[in-house]
Amino acid sequence: MAALCRGRHRWKTKHYFSILTRTLSGKYDYDLVVLGGGSGGLACSKEAAQLGQRVAVLDYVEPSAIGTKWGLGGTCVNVGCIPKKLMHQAALLGTAVKDAKKFGWQIPEPISHDWETMAGAVQNYVKSLNWGHRVQLNDKKVKYLNMKGSLVDEHTVKALSKAGKETTLTAKNIVIATGGRPKYPSSIPGAIEHGITSDDIFWMKKSPGKTLVVGASYVGLECAGFLTGIGLDATIMVRSIALRGFDQQMAALVTDYMEAYGTKFAWKCLPRRIDKLPSGVLRVTWTDTETGSDHHDDFDSVLWAVGRAPETKALGLDKLGVHLNKDTGKIIVGADESTSVPNIYAFGDIGEGRPELTPTAIKAGRLLARRLVGQSSQLMDYDNVPTTVFTPLEYGCVGLSEEEADKRYGKEGIEVYHAFYKPLEFTIAERDASQCYLKVVCERREKQKILGLHFTGPNAGEVTQGFALGVQCGATYADLLNTVGIHPTCAEEVTKVHITKRSGLDATVTGC
Ligand code: FAD
Ligand code: NDP
Repeated sequence: MAALCRGRHRWKTKHYFSILTRTLSGKYDYDLVVLGGGSGGLACSKEAAQLGQRVAVLDYVEPSAIGTKWGLGGTCVNVGCIPKKLMHQAALLGTAVKDAKKFGWQIPEPISHDWETMAGAVQNYVKSLNWGHRVQLNDKKVKYLNMKGSLVDEHTVKALSKAGKETTLTAKNIVIATGGRPKYPSSIPGAIEHGITSDDIFWMKKSPGKTLVVGASYVGLECAGFLTGIGLDATIMVRSIALRGFDQQMAALVTDYMEAYGTKFAWKCLPRRIDKLPSGVLRVTWTDTETGSDHHDDFDSVLWAVGRAPETKALGLDKLGVHLNKDTGKIIVGADESTSVPNIYAFGDIGEGRPELTPTAIKAGRLLARRLVGQSSQLMDYDNVPTTVFTPLEYGCVGLSEEEADKRYGKEGIEVYHAFYKPLEFTIAERDASQCYLKVVCERREKQKILGLHFTGPNAGEVTQGFALGVQCGATYADLLNTVGIHPTCAEEVTKVHITKRSGLDATVTGC
């Protein structure tokens, strides 16, 4: 026992001595320790390492409530953008197969979709990305620790492995990029026991079957969209409006298209409870808030898409005085991603007021790394961030919604140019193009600077990405008209838009 105590005493003395030496000499184990190996954390750590910094990144995935877990790369790679876009593609192919018959393809009926094949292929691809990220970290000499991190002080991180092994790392700077996880409405009986979230759906080995999706923002609409597209019965329960924060005219086009496509909508309804019947099916009871009446139906799966909660709980931020927003729980950050504690930075989904999007997390992470090494003073510009909702009819936008432009500039201060167009590929396929629409919201005064651009239609992400450059560069309506279109594309319709909403003229594009 005495020997053990002597040993402990020696270890403690050695440990404190090493911290003291490092502190006095200004040396730490690392220049930078990053908590979170998602879109932002990986970008920041790789950039810093490339600039000669000694960097460690910790990434740890707490399994979902039903035990789903995944590898390195964060939300986008494992349970977000990548598997979502691939399953969206699976759905688009279903529509393409139907179109193909009109173009002469002989396709034996009935066509059907196999979840296991799609999910297996998507999951294998994701696993290859997990591996790719590990290789990249190794190549760039970033130390990767599959450990859960928490903060001890502004230069010290405690890392805990799955097996309970603890390690302490010191660093000149610490970056928090721990993202968020889906929320559950825990007050609803059965919500956690019987529900799934976007953390589970992409990793399901068996088809989710008839699915109720609760929530009508990006995640809810996209998931219900691809489920419908691969032939499943999908219902979206909307408590208020769809796509809050987006241009509501565009949101209505997206949901109208989805309704025609086969997705069911339970508007203005609130789930009350979920019971598992002896047969295994889930009985959902809900209230229609307009009539006050209760209803129920049976589903194979209930997917909660009711928003995301920041991953701050395990970080020990309160002890250090890192300020959080009381309502959202996110970390309050400055324009340079600094927190209220020196040497601690935060960005990506965890940062208050930041868009929850992969490209903004990546760009912010790279810029932060450059500033930390003194290579640049450039701040992340969070204005004019383009985005796309990958619903059956995709919706892409950049800049202000018409409502927001109206609020800032007044009705008389804006000019809205718009067009209903028909994608060429819809013609022979005899697809309804009623929701294919675009609008360009401009300042009304002389130069007519473009404030916002909105587009529903095929490949909306690709279309919007291109025009986002123009908007970022301050393009005007005249610049748009001076841009020569590429014929025959949907994007060219943006360069030809000339009917103003104010005129009340028919905005349907006719002819070639
Ligand atoms: P994350 O990518 O979430 O990474 C955080 C990492 O930190 C995770 O791996 C987490 O496990 C880990 N971690 C948490 N706590 C700790 C800890 N204490 N110690 C160590 N590690 C920890 N964005 C788009 O731009 N386009 C899309 O199409 C798109 N689709 C999406 C679809 C879905 C279903 C969802 C849910 C999101 C989607 N997003 C999309 C959003 C995008 O995925 C996120 O904005 C992005 O991943 C945020 O990056 P991040 O680095 O902030 O966090
Ligand atoms: P959001 O917070 O954007 O939306 C949550 C939705 O759930 C809203 O429709 C909300 O309704 C509803 N809701 C909330 N609580 C309840 C409840 N108790 N009962 C019923 N409905 C409820 O979250 P998402 O998870 O959809 O998206 C998170 C973020 O992820 C997005 O902001 C986006 O940045 C990112 N993302 C990006 C994608 C892309 O780029 N394509 C795709 C997916 C996600 P209400 O409006 O009434 O509050």
